[in-house]
This record gives sequence, structure tokens and C-alpha cells, in this order.
Amino acid sequence: MSETTNQSEQAETVETHNFQTEAKQLLKLMIHSLYSNREIFLRELISNASDAIDKLRFKAIEAPDLLGDDPDYHIDITFDKDAKTLTIADNGIGMTRQEVITNLGTIAKSGTAEFLATLTGDQAKDAQLIGQFGVGFYSAFMVADEVEVRTLGAGAEQGVRWRSAGEDAYELEDIDGLSRGTQVILHLQEDALDFADDFRLRSVVRKYSDHIGVPVRMLQQTPPGDPDSEEQAQDTTLEFEAVNSAKALWTRSRSEVEDEEYKEFYKHVSHDFEDPLSWSHNRVEGKLEYTSLLYIPKRAPFDLYNREAPRGLKLYVQRVFIMDDAEQFLPLYLRFIKGVVDSNDLPLNVSREILQQDDRVTSIRNALTKRVLSMLDSMAKKEPEQYQAFWDEFGEVLKEGAGEDFANREALSKLLRFATTKTDGPAKTVSLDAYLERKAENQESIYYICAETYETASRSPHLEVFKDKDVEVLLMFDRIDEWLMSMLTQYNDISFVDVMRDDVSLPGEVNSAEDSDDAEGTEGTKEGAEEDETSPLAERITTALADKVEKVRPSKRLTQSPACLVLADYAMGVQMRKIMEASGQAMPESKPIFEFNPEHPLLQRLDSESDEDRFAELVGILFDQASLAEGGTLADPGAYVERLNRLLLDLLDS
Ligand code: ADP
Repeated sequence: MSETTNQSEQAETVETHNFQTEAKQLLKLMIHSLYSNREIFLRELISNASDAIDKLRFKAIEAPDLLGDDPDYHIDITFDKDAKTLTIADNGIGMTRQEVITNLGTIAKSGTAEFLATLTGDQAKDAQLIGQFGVGFYSAFMVADEVEVRTLGAGAEQGVRWRSAGEDAYELEDIDGLSRGTQVILHLQEDALDFADDFRLRSVVRKYSDHIGVPVRMLQQTPPGDPDSEEQAQDTTLEFEAVNSAKALWTRSRSEVEDEEYKEFYKHVSHDFEDPLSWSHNRVEGKLEYTSLLYIPKRAPFDLYNREAPRGLKLYVQRVFIMDDAEQFLPLYLRFIKGVVDSNDLPLNVSREILQQDDRVTSIRNALTKRVLSMLDSMAKKEPEQYQAFWDEFGEVLKEGAGEDFANREALSKLLRFATTKTDGPAKTVSLDAYLERKAENQESIYYICAETYETASRSPHLEVFKDKDVEVLLMFDRIDEWLMSMLTQYNDISFVDVMRDDVSLPGEVNSAEDSDDAEGTEGTKEGAEEDETSPLAERITTALADKVEKVRPSKRLTQSPACLVLADYAMGVQMRKIMEASGQAMPESKPIFEFNPEHPLLQRLDSESDEDRFAELVGILFDQASLAEGGTLADPGAYVERLNRLLLDLLDS
């Protein structure tokens, strides 16, 4: 593709070549559209240098002679403020003349022409597309008005110089006196002179290339006060020092890394001052190759529930830092996980947009999700106290997962913990497995109750019969619980049953809810219920409560309290309703079922009350009390107080 003109007025060996058309187009577009983040040129050039070193490292396994007397790999960055140059030099594999023409004059990627045809001319859109395509070597032209490459292939005799101003053409010339590898010399643009600065360069190197497995070196800074400090290139006393740590921690094998090092690295990636609770470091090989190092923090961040807060892993591709907060590698409910994923398969210039649609990313996300869940599972088994500490901080977020991540629902359900009627206080929890292990012999459901607080849940009248029969009930009082339970219907094929609902059957009883699809099967139960509802007391109560309730019936679940309110099976839970109302949603009216305890002395006394007004007043109080007991708010609290005070007066007067 390139054209050659011998320019006889210059040295015989200088040739001018035209860039391949596609290369020319891409170069122009890149210079103009990627301008806003131009410091990445350094990442690209260091990455190329590191690749060149990797290639030589690989070749030298078979041909160690290639290394000659320069066996230590390094990438050196120097600058000269006066000459306005910045040089990135490596002692990698270098290039032959032909390789220079192919690699730096053309774009070998298949489909380049088609790709370029899709560009719109709209700078912002094109910038995204080009970012996806690959910036690479040409990004040098974002900061340089001329780029010079001097290179000597490993084992080659003849060095080559390539030079271009990034327009239509480049010059090529044989030169002597080079040592193995490649030097890229950037003649900086006036507005890019800030890159000829020790501090700036070091910080860019650390930001993007800290974990390149090769030392990226810069000249030591002269001691403070030295008048020659600016003239570092001429100061022969200066030596090179590595700017990066040169060995990516996650690339080392687990057995080589001390716990302390893992902890230090955690602080570096998370900006957390505390040690992590736990971590998992894994290398995956096969169809996809990647390494992950995932940390569980000890404490939930203050912005755990802020949807805008940055989250995600640090993404590296082949040990080159690509981006922070790569959120595509974990689901939202694992947003508290910190760490690194280092892929060997993704392109270096991968953008967030690409990450969102890339199948490889999806596979990695699925695998990392399972990895975290199994890390938690083994913590729960081996270190239950540590798991409890985790649960206290992050349990609610994990519940989001159990509700929304269908594929991992089972693993997530295993990780759930709940206080129960048989544990002591809100902080003592059990797993669903532990609950099932000790369930009553003929128990066919997992019973639970949702309320606003632990106290409301644990003292709910709905629990009386369960306590009496020694059946354990899960106590749920997190905001998310009612939603969670609307998503979870079963665990290990055993159904969850809300004890506040209409159709609760106790262990050993036929579950009429299960039969209700079958018209004939329900008959018996229904008839029984009808009978109860038509009892004279139920009828009197129905009249007294009028339109406040859907139904009135004697209760099977009360043993101590006089009355309770029961939700129809289809009705929205009390907590969910409150949340919806608080968010300004108009909710349809929903009436509870009023259940009374015919054995209770109050009810027995009521039954013999002949004054209908007084009867209605007392029933009204029972209704309001039942509502209070489940943490509900009274429609007319003033009326309740008045009624109660009237009764108190009666009592005192009598
Ligand atoms: P990419 O790195 O994506 O292939 P680049 O445009 O960055 O694209 O580089 C093109 C090619 O030039 C590289 O594939 C490599 O063969 C060669 N190259 C670039 N920099 C160097 C270097 N420092 N040493 C040896 N070869 C290099």
C-alpha cells in the first residue's frame, strides 16, 4: 500500500512512504476526537513496550542469545524540557525495517475500512467508536507534532528510524548505533509540554501502569536544592529507578503472597483504612483467561444505598490498568465487593459501552458472582461469627440479590439469615437450613412474619398459636423483607407462609390455600368457616365494625390476645403499603379480616353485653388495638384515645 520516493538530496537511505489510506483516516480522527483524555498516550506506548518485552521474553526462552548482554527488561521514560521531547524506550523485541512499515504504516486489523465507513463525522460519537477500535501507537500524535521511532530488532544488525508528523507520510531511514529495542521520541506540541515533567509523568505511570510486570523507570530526581535539577538528561550522576511496582500482586501465585500484602493491596484499591473481612484470589484458564482478586470489606460504606455511588472492580487487561469502577463485572447487589479483574482476552482500549454488551464480560460476571457467593458460603460454614459480622453489615443488600438474581437464588437463599421466635433478640439469626433442620415433624411450610420492627414482629398476636405449638416462625423486620418474600416463594421445595395472611394452616392441618384451586376439595374447610362466621357473636361484631373490615371470624391463631387483623392473601403487605404510600403512590383501600378469640375473657364478657352502643365501642377498641399491635397506624387515633378514656372513667367511677 505504501509508495516510495527516493529523495536524492537527502541521504540515499531516506525514503518517504505514504500511510495506508485507512491508517491516515484513523490517525486524523484520533488526533481530533480523543483529545479530551490524551494522557492515555503514555499508557498505550508503555503497553506496546511491555508487549514488545513480553514477545522477546517468550522468544528468548528458545533463543537466549537474543538477549546478548542486556538481559534485564525495562521501560525507560526520559524527557528534555529544552528540546521539548519525551522518550519511551524499551529493550524488547524491536522491529525490522519491514515490520516498521507494516506495523506503523498500515492498520492490519481486518474490517478497518468497514469500520471507518461507519464513522459519522460527529466527533463525540466517533470518539467512542475509535476508542473501541483501538488507539495504540497513533495516540502519540495527540501530544506530539512529530514522532520518531528508532528501533533495532532483537538479533538484527541494522537499526531503522521512522519519522512522521502524523499527516500523509512518514520517513524511513537505516541508522546505526542502536541497542536492542525501540525508542519512541515524541516532539511535544506546545500545549502538551506539561508532559515534560517528572511529577506528571510519574503520576500518569502509576495511575495506568503500576502493575505492568516490567519496571517502568525514570531518572532519579536530584537532591533538593541542586541547581541542575531541571537538566536531568545531562546529569550523568543520575540513575534510573522504577516508578511502578513492576509486579502485579494478583499475577503472583497465592502461595507467594502474604496475608499482609493482600491487606495492603486492599487498602490501595479500596481507599479503606481497615483490613478487609475476607478475599479470594483466583486465576482462570481455558476459553477465557482472567485473574480476579475480590475483597469483602469489613464495613458497609455510607453510600451503599446511593445508586449513583461508584462501584465495581478495577479492570486490567493484560496487567494494564484500564478503568476504575468497572461495574459490569458484578451484579448491583454485590456492589460492596472491591478488587481487581485482569482479563487476557479483552482489548486494551475496551470502553464501558463495550463492557456492557460483551459476552466475555457476561461470562466473567457470572463466574465472579458465583465466586463471591461461594466465598460467603464457605465463610458461613467455617467461620460463622465472621459471617454474622458480614451479615450485619451487608445482609440487606444480599437480600436484594435473593429477590432479583433468579439464576443464583438457591445459593443466595442459603446465605440468608433471620431472627426467629426461637432465637434471642434481633441480632441472633439462623439460616433457612438450620430452620428446616429443627422444624416440627409434620411441618410443611416455612412460617414468617413481616413487621416494621423486631419488637412488633416478635410480639405479634399472630404468633400465639405457633408459640403454643412450638413451631418456629422467622421474624422479618427489614424494609426489604416484604418485597423479598414476594419474590421468594419456596426454599428446598418448601413454601414460605406469611402467618399474617388469611389462609394459614398449622402443622398437621390441611392447607386450604393449596386446595383452593380445586373447587371440590375446599368445600369442607369453607363450610366450617361459614359456620363460624354466622355465629351470633361474629354477626354482632360485623355490624359494629361495619365497613372497616372485609370479614369477621373466630380465630384459630390466637391463644392470648383478644383479636387480630389478618391480611387477605392477595392484599399488599403492611410494610410494602407504607413504603408505597410514603413514595406518594395512591393505594387502593384494602380491608383486613378481623379475627377474635372466643375463649378470651374479654370476648366472653362482650358476648353478654346487652347495650349495643357499648358493645360497638368496645369492639372498636379491640379493632384499634389489633391494628396497633401489628405496627399499623390508626385512621383516627383521637377517637381511640377518647373511647379508651371514657372506659377508664367508667372503671374508676364504678
Ligand atoms: P496494537 O498494539 O494494538 O497492535 P499499535 O498501533 O499500538 O497497535 O502498534 C502496532 C504494532 O506496532 C504493534 O502490534 C507492534 O507489532 C508494533 N510496535 C508498537 N510499538 C512497539 C515497540 N515498542 N516495540 C516493538 N514493536 C512495537
